[in-house]
Amino acid sequence: MGEVAKSVAKVEEGFLGLMRPYKPPSWALHLNPIPSHVFSLAHVPTPIHKWNVPGTPANTEVYIKREDLCGVQLSGNKARKLEFLLADAVSHGSDCVITMGGMQSNHCRATAVAARYLNLDCFLILCMYESQTERDPGLAGNLLIERLVGAHVEVVSWEAFAKYGSSGLLNSLKKQLEKNGRRPYIIPVGGSNSLGTWGYIEAVREIEQQLQQPEFDEMTFDSIVAPCGSSGTVVGLSLGSWLSTLKAEAKGLGYASSSTEELVFIKEVAEATGVILDPVYSGKAAYGFVKDMRENPKKWEGKRVLFIHTGGIFALYDKATKVMSNMVGRWKRMDINESIPLKDASECW
Ligand SMILES: *Cc1c(COP(=O)(O)O)cnc(C)c1O
Repeated sequence: MGEVAKSVAKVEEGFLGLMRPYKPPSWALHLNPIPSHVFSLAHVPTPIHKWNVPGTPANTEVYIKREDLCGVQLSGNKARKLEFLLADAVSHGSDCVITMGGMQSNHCRATAVAARYLNLDCFLILCMYESQTERDPGLAGNLLIERLVGAHVEVVSWEAFAKYGSSGLLNSLKKQLEKNGRRPYIIPVGGSNSLGTWGYIEAVREIEQQLQQPEFDEMTFDSIVAPCGSSGTVVGLSLGSWLSTLKAEAKGLGYASSSTEELVFIKEVAEATGVILDPVYSGKAAYGFVKDMRENPKKWEGKRVLFIHTGGIFALYDKATKVMSNMVGRWKRMDINESIPLKDASECW
């Protein structure tokens, strides 16, 4: 059996995820490369619903596309990119994947889970502060999931990242693995290359189809607001010809650092709408978007906007214990008085 056939057979022993041939939407036929195959890993279509986010001016309608609901452990925008990237990995006869990100990278967590679904091993290079590189990285947030599904975690310092870059480090690990007889496939940071971006070209097709459903009655959006990191999501979305994307400058204190205002905003949105944003991307993007609507309401009046919730809830578990505990409140020991009748012996609970 050739390497590719072996790799496909190995995948088929794993998850139900059979690769299917891919046909792009007609408006994307001019793009290059056009992927030949794709996996179905995300639970799609993800819902679109009205979102009464606090700060919306009268006469503006905000909707939200819940990419955070495309799975539990495989949730968020990275799932769609991985459907294409992993099909390519398997087509190349790879037996493991390597990727890289920050300590709470959602992309690394999603890659670890998706690789496991497909019976591929996963190696993650995670960047952290120098002082953290000599001890066990722990189990906070995304790390718990990565380690539960058996990803191999390789810790590096941000200094090493600055010195060698992601491709230097990824290629170095690739060579080490090849020396041991492995056939690794490199997935770039954030899954954002010309192949991964197809995930969000497909998402545009999905949105178009959703808007044809009776509940939306051929509605259209004036703008789409989406968080931007490695930019595959925004690039994919903007390739859909009917969209104009808004770029909000919402970086704030920098990657994975949250200001108090941003965290208070996440709490405010959760409490008002039940939608939980993440501290690294969707929380910052929504914060920037709402700030702009509050400061320039005229610009948004009469507009219908779609906000893309790209997921990332697990990173919040890392922030929660450190900085959010003083925001949540509302607990007390329940008052129990003697007048409550005692439990009947026939009741189980
Ligand atoms: C990675 C990520 C983004 C950024 O997406 P890119 O395609 O890398 O720009 C946004 N939100 C969340 C939750 C992410 O994990």
